[in-house]
Amino acid sequence: MQAMAKLEQILDKPFRGKLLTRADAVTLLTAPDEALPEIFDAADRLNRQVNGDRVSYVYNRNINFTNICGARCAFCAYWASPDDAGAYCMTPDEVAQVALQSPGVDEVCMQGGLNPAIDFQYLLDVTRAVHQALPHAHIHAFSPMEIEFHTRRAGLPLERAFERLIEAGFGSLCGTAAEILVDDVRRDICPAKLSADRWFEVVGTAHRMGLRSTSTMLFGHIESPANIAEHIGRLRDLQQQTGGLTEFIPLIFIPYRTRLGRERGIHEMLPVERTKLLYATSRLFFAPVLPNVQTSWCKLGLPTALETLDTGCNDLGGTLLSENITRTAGGRHGQAMTVEALVAAIRSAGRTPVHRDTLYNVLSVNDRAARRPA
Ligand code: SF4
Repeated sequence: MQAMAKLEQILDKPFRGKLLTRADAVTLLTAPDEALPEIFDAADRLNRQVNGDRVSYVYNRNINFTNICGARCAFCAYWASPDDAGAYCMTPDEVAQVALQSPGVDEVCMQGGLNPAIDFQYLLDVTRAVHQALPHAHIHAFSPMEIEFHTRRAGLPLERAFERLIEAGFGSLCGTAAEILVDDVRRDICPAKLSADRWFEVVGTAHRMGLRSTSTMLFGHIESPANIAEHIGRLRDLQQQTGGLTEFIPLIFIPYRTRLGRERGIHEMLPVERTKLLYATSRLFFAPVLPNVQTSWCKLGLPTALETLDTGCNDLGGTLLSENITRTAGGRHGQAMTVEALVAAIRSAGRTPVHRDTLYNVLSVNDRAARRPA
C-alpha cells in the first residue's frame, strides 16, 4: 500500500511542474509488473499534454563511412580490423555519391568507426562533399568519440574543430557514444571510449557554440537502474544548462552477435514491458526540460515501436535508408523505411504524423500527399 502511495506521488510530480529525482527514476525502473499500467498511463498523459497526438519522423539517410575501428566495444558487432574481408572506408566522394541516391532527404546522418587511417581533415572533406552534393540537407554527423579521437590526434581544440566543421557545412552533432554515462560501466563495455565527463565536455562545447545535438543511451545490458538514473540525470542537468539537446533516444542493446552478449550470458533483448517502462520513465523524468523522446523501429521492430507511442514516445525516428549497425548486431527489423510506411504506421496507431527536420522544426502536419520521390 505504502509503495503504491509513493508511486502515485512520483507520478503526480510532473503534472505539478516538479522534477523527478534520480531516486524517483530508480523507483519507477524497479516497479513491480502490476504497477506498469499506471506508469504507462502517466507517461502517455504527460506526452499528450506536451505533444498532443502528434508523432514526428525525419526523412533521412544514414551513412556509415567506415567500419574499421580499434575501440572494439563489447556491445558492438559493427567494427572490423583493417585486414578483415568486410573492412571498408569510403572516400568523401563515395559518401557524397551515396547521399545523392536519395536527393530529397532532409538529413544525412554520418558516423564511422575510429579508423586511424582517416583524420580530422577527412571529417571536413566528407562534410564538405555531402554539403556540396545536397546543399539543402542538414548534416547530422559524428559522435563525441569521433570528435575526441580525431581532434586529439590533430592537436586541435574542440572550439576550433567545431568552427572548421561548421565552415564545411556541418549541422549538428550525434549524441551517440554515450552508452551509459557512468565510468564504472564504461570500463566494462567500452573501455577505449572517452570518459563520461569528457563526453559532456565535447557535447557541452558544441552546445555553447550554438550547435545542437541529440542524446542517446544504450540500455538492456549490464547497467543497473541507478546507472540509468545517473545517465538521464546528467543529461537533464546538461539540458538545463545549455538547452542544446533536441531529443533523448534510448537504444536497446541487441545482444545476438556481440561479445558482451556472449560473455555476460545475455541472449535476448530486454522484455517488451521493461523496455516500455524505460521509455515511460524517460518521459516522466525529462519533463518539462526535454519534450522529445524517440523510439526506434529498427531496433524494436515497428509493432513494438508503435506500442511505445503509448508509453511516452513522440518521435518515430528516421527513414534511415541504409542502417548497418543494428543489422550487424543481429537486428531483425530492416534497414530502411519509406516515408509512406512511417506515415501509415503512425496513422495506424491513431496518431497524427508530423514531418519534421533534424532540429524538430515542423515541415508538414498530417500530409497525405506522397512526398517528393527519393
Ligand atoms: S561502437 Fe563505435 S567505437 Fe565502439 S567498436 Fe563499434 S564502431 Fe568502434
